Amino acid sequence: MTSGTDAVALTQSLLRFDTVNPPGNEDQCARMLGAALERAGFRTRYHSFGPGRTNLLADVGGQSDRLPLCFTGHIDVVPLGNAPWSKDPFAGETDAGRMYGRGSSDMKAGVAAFVAAAIRMAPHLERTPGLTLVITAGEENGCEGAFHLHRDGVLGRAGAVVVAEPTSNYPFVGHKGAFWLRAVTHGVTAHGSMPDKGDNAVYKAARAVTKLESFRFANPPHPLMGQATLNVGTFHGGLNINSVPDLAAVAIDIRTVPTVDHRELLAALSAQLGPEVELQTLIDLESVYTDPAEPWMQSVFDVMTPILGARPAARAATYFTDAAALNLAYRNPPTVILGPGEPHMAHQTDEYCVVERIAQSVGAYEQLIRRWCLA
Ligand SMILES: [Zn+2]
Repeated sequence: MTSGTDAVALTQSLLRFDTVNPPGNEDQCARMLGAALERAGFRTRYHSFGPGRTNLLADVGGQSDRLPLCFTGHIDVVPLGNAPWSKDPFAGETDAGRMYGRGSSDMKAGVAAFVAAAIRMAPHLERTPGLTLVITAGEENGCEGAFHLHRDGVLGRAGAVVVAEPTSNYPFVGHKGAFWLRAVTHGVTAHGSMPDKGDNAVYKAARAVTKLESFRFANPPHPLMGQATLNVGTFHGGLNINSVPDLAAVAIDIRTVPTVDHRELLAALSAQLGPEVELQTLIDLESVYTDPAEPWMQSVFDVMTPILGARPAARAATYFTDAAALNLAYRNPPTVILGPGEPHMAHQTDEYCVVERIAQSVGAYEQLIRRWCLA
């Protein structure tokens, strides 16, 4: 068997664990991977942040003075959605070169590919910089598992990061950040026939939304990612028609670029919205970006050129990843998002991945490991 077929079989095994988040239940899936990695000589650590919620850390080599190469991926998946599936979402059925299942593209194929590549290379990695594998639970609701790893100080160090999220094996040099806020306004309730006795929280929220619609970012646009964006996603206020509402809330989805400082942005929004609006932070994930000219990124491009049939151009992903949390611990090493899944299949009904890309990805990861550890 080649490592490519190992990785295809491993993808199928991972799909058979129901790790829909919520609730997640990643524990058994993490322990199956941990056992396979231990048999190959990896040192493993399990890290739990709730019932059934288990992250897996696995290391091999690492006895030289250079930092290890990190591969990361999540094993939780999003719910199935309302539409019925035409395939079993937890069987890993294959048909016409595709493997179906919830999480096939996002991102169990990616996890299987780097685990297969790491196991195959493990016998050669003693007394080299080595590998550190970070397999997370709870990514799909804001990188919860990865943030626990960071807060608990268990991540160690890494010299570069490969995030195996779905990119159809195209290397992305970064992704936008996510800064999600809730704007809350307070008032005083009164009978709807006597509004002068109350203080209407919905009017305050409406004024806030109007200011948000015309908000202009002060930072210069980023040369690759352009400008940050802001969207008001929800607006809730009031309980019944005949009362003055004393509470309203607006959810704001901001996608940031590397030229945005989240704290400065929060201060600018607070100043614009004024004292009648309280801003609460829901998710605070910085953008991730590596200069395409950086030598390791160029080496990733070298590896991917024959696989893609042309040298990659600098591109960024639209979604955020666990790298936003991991890079707080690793202090922003060069980071590539590169995985065998299909980005357009993420979170879709009848999600599939392309089987051929799994073996391609294992080959690419093995080359990245050789270049990092054995060059
Ligand atoms: Zn994902």
